[in-house]
Amino acid sequence: MRCRALHDIESGALYQQPYGTAEQAIYSVSRTRLNGVLLDAAEEAGVELNFGASLIKVDGTPLATLELADGSRISIHARAVFGADGAYSRVRSSMMRLQNVNLTQHYINHGYKELHIDPTPDGQFALDVPEALHIWPRHDFMMIALPNPDKTFTCTLFAPYATFKELDSGDGAAVQAFFDDNFSDAVPLLGDVVKQFAENPTSSLVTMRVKPWNFEDKLCVIGDAAHAVVPFYGQGMNCAAEDALSFDEVLARCGCDLSKAIPAWAAERQPAGDGLADLSYGNYVEMRSHTANPGFLLQKKVESWLHYLFPDTWIPQYTMVAFTRIPYHEAKERAERQDAIIKRVTQAAAITGAAAVAATVGLVATKTQAGRDAIAAISKGVHALLGGAADSGTTARA
Ligand SMILES: Cc1cc2nc3c(=O)[nH]c(=O)nc-3n(C[C@H](O)[C@H](O)[C@H](O)COP(=O)(O)OP(=O)(O)OC[C@H]3O[C@@H](n4cnc5c(N)ncnc54)[C@H](O)[C@@H]3O)c2cc1C
Repeated sequence: MRCRALHDIESGALYQQPYGTAEQAIYSVSRTRLNGVLLDAAEEAGVELNFGASLIKVDGTPLATLELADGSRISIHARAVFGADGAYSRVRSSMMRLQNVNLTQHYINHGYKELHIDPTPDGQFALDVPEALHIWPRHDFMMIALPNPDKTFTCTLFAPYATFKELDSGDGAAVQAFFDDNFSDAVPLLGDVVKQFAENPTSSLVTMRVKPWNFEDKLCVIGDAAHAVVPFYGQGMNCAAEDALSFDEVLARCGCDLSKAIPAWAAERQPAGDGLADLSYGNYVEMRSHTANPGFLLQKKVESWLHYLFPDTWIPQYTMVAFTRIPYHEAKERAERQDAIIKRVTQAAAITGAAAVAATVGLVATKTQAGRDAIAAISKGVHALLGGAADSGTTARA
C-alpha cells in the first residue's frame, strides 16, 4: 500500500496521501502465510516444535510447567525462557511473582469490529485505488479497509463503545442508517452490512506497558507480551519482529553470552515499546480526525517538501516509524520537535505562503551553486532547531 486513500464524507471524493516516496510502501500480509513462513524457517534451523502445549507457569530456575494436548503435565528445565505468548502472557505473570514488575494495562474507550468487502463479479478489487489503505475518517470514529491478495478487502470499524452499544441495541435499521450516513460509498460493496455487523464480534483494544522485560538472565518477554499496543500504526507485529532482530544484534555484541545479552537487551529495548504505545494511540487521532482536516494535509505537504530538501535532517514521523530503524521512542521525540517547528510555520497563513514559496525556490536553487550554498545554510539552521539529531539508524525497519 503506497498511500492512504481518504473517503470524504461531504463530496464522496477520494484523496490520496502518499506514505513516503514513490518507492516506499507498507505491506498487507496474511497472518496464516506469515506463520507458515516462520514455522518453515524454524524447522529448517532445527527447532523442535510442540503444538498444543500450554505453558502453565515457570519458576526462576527456570523450570517450565507445560500442559499437553491430552491434559497431562510435564516440566522442562531450560537455560532461559523467552515468553512470546502475547498480551496476556503467562511468562510475564510468572515473572511478576519473582520480582517487582511495573505493568500498566489501559483499555481505550473504543472497540473494533471487522467487516468484509468481496471482489466484484468479474473478480476485481471493489474499491478504486486497491494499492492503498482506505480510511473513512469521521472524527470520533473511522472505518478502514486493507486489500488482500484474493482481491477482497478486510474492513475494520473503530468506534466508541457507546456507539457500538447503541447500534447493537437497536434494530438493523439503525445499523443501516449509520452506514448510509457515514460510509455511503462503501454500503453497496459491503453486501448485507446489517448481517455482517450482527455476526462479527466487537473486540477491545488494550495497551500494556511492562518494566522490566526480564528476570535476571533466566526469563524474558518479547513481542506483545512486553508491549501490547493499539493497532493504529500497524507496527505491533513489526515491533515484535524487530525485538527478535535487535536481540540477535545484542547477542552477537555480547559474544553469545546469554547472561549478559538478556539483561542488556531488555534494558535497551524497553523504551522503544513505550514509545510505540504512545505513537500508536496518537495515530488513531491522526487517522480518524486529522486526516479530514485541510490544515493537517497542508502540514503534511510542507513536511514532505522539507524532507525532500533535507532528507537526513527532516524525516516525517510516519517515515521514521515505517521506513527506518530509528527506535520508536526516539522517532517520537524527534517528531515532537519537528511538529513544534512546523506548527509555528503553518499557523500563520502568510508564513505558510512564504514556506511554500521557499520550498519551491529551494527546489530551483538546487540547480545552482549559490542555491546549494543557501540550502546548506538553511539545513544548518534546521539541524540547530532539531538539536542536531539526525542521520541515526536510517536503515529500513521491515
Ligand atoms: C485489530 C488488530 C489489528 C492489528 N493490525 C496490525 C498490523 O496491521 N500490523 C502489525 O504489525 N500488527 C498489527 N496488530 C498487532 C499484532 O497482531 C501483534 O502485535 C502481534 O500478533 C504480536 O505477536 P506476538 O507473537 O507477540 O503475540 P501473539 O500474536 O498474540 O502470539 C502469541 C502466541 O502465544 C500463544 N500462547 C499464549 N499463551 C500461551 C501459553 N500459556 N502457552 C503456550 N502458548 C501460548 C498464543 O496461542 C499465540 O500463538 C494488530 C492487532 C489487532 C488487535
